Amino acid sequence: MFKHCQKLLKTSNALFNLNFLQVQSQRLHSKGVTVGIWRSYSTKSRKSENISLIDFPPERIRNFCIIAHIDHGKSTLADRMLEITGVIPENQKNEQVLDKLQVERERGITVKAQSASLFYDVEGLTYLLNLVDTPGHVDFSYEVSRSLSACQGVILLVDANQGVQAQTVANMYLAIEAGLELIPVLNKIDLKGANPEVVSKQIQNLYPVTDEEILKISAKLGIGVAEVLEAVIKRIPPPPADQKKPFKALVYDSWFDKFKGIICNVAVKDGVVMKGDKVTFHHAQKSFDIQEVGILHPEQTPTNILLAGQAGYVIANVKSSTGTLVGDTMYHKSTPVDPLPGFRPAKPMVFAGIYPIDQSQYIKLRESITKLTFNDSSVSVAQDSSAALGVGWRLGFLGLLHMDVFKMRLEQEFDASVIITAPNIPYKVRIIGAKNIKKYKGEEVVVLNPCKLPDQTIISQYFEPMVRATIVYPDVYIGEVQALISDRRGRTEDQTYLDNSRVMLKVIFPLNEILINFFDELKSVTKGYASFDYEDYGYEETNLSKVSFNINNVDVEEMTLLCHSSNAQKMCRKICARLQEAVPRQQYKVQIKGQVNNKHICTEVVNPYRKDVTAKLYGGDVTRRNKLLAKQAEGKKKLRSLGNIQVPKDVFIKVLTQK
Ligand code: GDP
Ligand code: MG
Repeated sequence: MFKHCQKLLKTSNALFNLNFLQVQSQRLHSKGVTVGIWRSYSTKSRKSENISLIDFPPERIRNFCIIAHIDHGKSTLADRMLEITGVIPENQKNEQVLDKLQVERERGITVKAQSASLFYDVEGLTYLLNLVDTPGHVDFSYEVSRSLSACQGVILLVDANQGVQAQTVANMYLAIEAGLELIPVLNKIDLKGANPEVVSKQIQNLYPVTDEEILKISAKLGIGVAEVLEAVIKRIPPPPADQKKPFKALVYDSWFDKFKGIICNVAVKDGVVMKGDKVTFHHAQKSFDIQEVGILHPEQTPTNILLAGQAGYVIANVKSSTGTLVGDTMYHKSTPVDPLPGFRPAKPMVFAGIYPIDQSQYIKLRESITKLTFNDSSVSVAQDSSAALGVGWRLGFLGLLHMDVFKMRLEQEFDASVIITAPNIPYKVRIIGAKNIKKYKGEEVVVLNPCKLPDQTIISQYFEPMVRATIVYPDVYIGEVQALISDRRGRTEDQTYLDNSRVMLKVIFPLNEILINFFDELKSVTKGYASFDYEDYGYEETNLSKVSFNINNVDVEEMTLLCHSSNAQKMCRKICARLQEAVPRQQYKVQIKGQVNNKHICTEVVNPYRKDVTAKLYGGDVTRRNKLLAKQAEGKKKLRSLGNIQVPKDVFIKVLTQK
């Protein structure tokens, strides 16, 4: 009886499904739209066929990310997957095809997670695979954590030559926390130095997996890539999605396109969405008509429909003033649903002021920053102003590389000319009697900009941000690494051996100590064999001093910094000496003074020198002379005037960020 009921239920479900899809198809036909895309195979036959997304119920969908330490071959594996599934032709020139940004190509690193939908046949059935290639560097881990929310499994790629590294571990834990299926894959087995046995053991020390379950491949040569795709289909579960429920989708990424406006990447959790539908963003509380919907193949390929379990993009004429969309839930305006949990907001680790080189460019720069933050939602933006640099913003980044990449993207993708101040980290202070002082909302004040530190006489306690670092290195360098850790005020919390000679340390550091050139030093003391990653570890009480500088008695507020009191005098002298080298000679004598907590510590002098740009000119061609003067005037925009002297605006940042 029970079996009979089950059978009936199954048939009625099947009928429902059929009816449901028919209804969807009719809806589409009535709108005069098609639901297919042309798919070409790269398998031997090289045929092509028209396929429809309606044919892919959740059971035949797999959503997965490739995660790894930087340079372990994620983007190269993605290239081979695109080739094997016929999305791009197989040729020698496909190198990190998904790294589309100019900065990614120039630096050879991935900074932005990229999705691609692929079709792959196993045992006579075609599967729809949604692959996300992620960045490896710690500064872009927000990209990884967001991408994981659109997936049910991950490929954990480990270089068989380098072994498990700090970001391998960090990214692996992100995937485990998200409850995803893990497929460990050893890459670069073609390399002479590859040691798959040892590296397999390292993985097994971290994660319960048998030797057979660890795949061994060469992404570069395409060895074992088909097996990886098969493992994705067999080992990663299909998305838990229901096509019959009301439409609900998670916006897991967005970007701004010059021609099409704002584009959202969505993972459809339930239901169906089609071109022409009216949708609402839950948190933004704004509704729009969907103009285009499709999959990334890896270029935008309109399909006019996306069904539960699938991932793709939607374009809905969203205004750039709508605010952050990433993490928001999208549903049909007529059938609101409970929102999805969304994402934990990114926690900025470093802050810097950003200003247009020329104040007349303020509005254009504001637009550019807004557009770029659609593509990089981990950047926090607040208005700021400086007596020296004018009106601008204080931006929060996840690290210095992130800051650098954001600046480069503003310049490359939006043609902006900006000046970015020296980075600093968010300290906290406790104010005595804050209740009686109107401008402080509470006892604790976060200081994002050191020159806005409250009056030190009313500060009772200082707190600095801490991080929990993972360091993986060969144990022959134990002495050097320990010395570096104590020099940077670190305290070791845990030590594990990944194999006979490879150590993994967990160390608590003040963020300030590891931000600038810690990793370079770590690499140099371990001959390049150490890797490093960190996560937020809250605040701890500390002693801080304010170090400030003035040039010819004018305060250089962008040079003000906070540092640990034990280091303040040394830091003050060091920076003063660097400034002396960096400030160009002027027509007057220049005096640079350093102070700690407003007490004078040191003075350096730059001797005068006269620069006349037209001095070299003899003879009377007035146009040439004017041209030179005009060039000089243009250059002056990049100068900051301090009392009677002129200094290039970026001198201060260079001084504060150099070794
Ligand atoms: P990602 O940072 O993880 O995306 O790494 P990439 O895909 O950018 O690759 C980093 C470097 O490793 C590139 O120079 C690739 O050519 C190289 N690489 C990737 N896979 C292999 C492989 O299987 N064998 C060898 N020899 N080199 C590889
Ligand atoms: Mg990459």
